[in-house]
Amino acid sequence: MAYDQNNIFAKILREEIPCIKVYEDEHTLAFMDIMPQADGHTLVIPKYQAVTLLDLPATELTQTMQTVQKVALAIEKALDAKGIVLMQLSGEAAGQTVPHVHFHLIPSSIHTLKNHASEMADQAKLKAFAEKIKASL
Ligand code: 5GP
Repeated sequence: MAYDQNNIFAKILREEIPCIKVYEDEHTLAFMDIMPQADGHTLVIPKYQAVTLLDLPATELTQTMQTVQKVALAIEKALDAKGIVLMQLSGEAAGQTVPHVHFHLIPSSIHTLKNHASEMADQAKLKAFAEKIKASL
């Protein structure tokens, strides 16, 4: 599938629309999910333009997974998370809704997740979680 330059995460990367940022480096960006499946639900994306995991070259995958682990450690510390769900949906058939590859970090149990991308969270609450996580990086 061709990469859509106008997908929402491409716009976030170009800073055309805002996000509540947790971490950024040369290759990756982490920010709060606006419809979290649990408190602290964070997304990690590569800056590389790939639609799914299957399109992501090994180097960019390695860089992204390093950020995934870094942010997961910060979430664990900041929120005293006892477990973190790492979720990645590749393809509409899997339920992927944004066509720029991303990794969900959800401090929760797989058995108690809220529905996927279903309910907008309060922005102030998201900002408070982001500040806590940032402080633990
Ligand atoms: P997917 O279904 O592609 O695996 O996940 C996309 C995720 O992006 C969903 O969890 C959804 O809540 C989140 N999302 C959708 N639009 C936006 C947005 O504009 N900003 C942020 N921060 N998250 C978004």
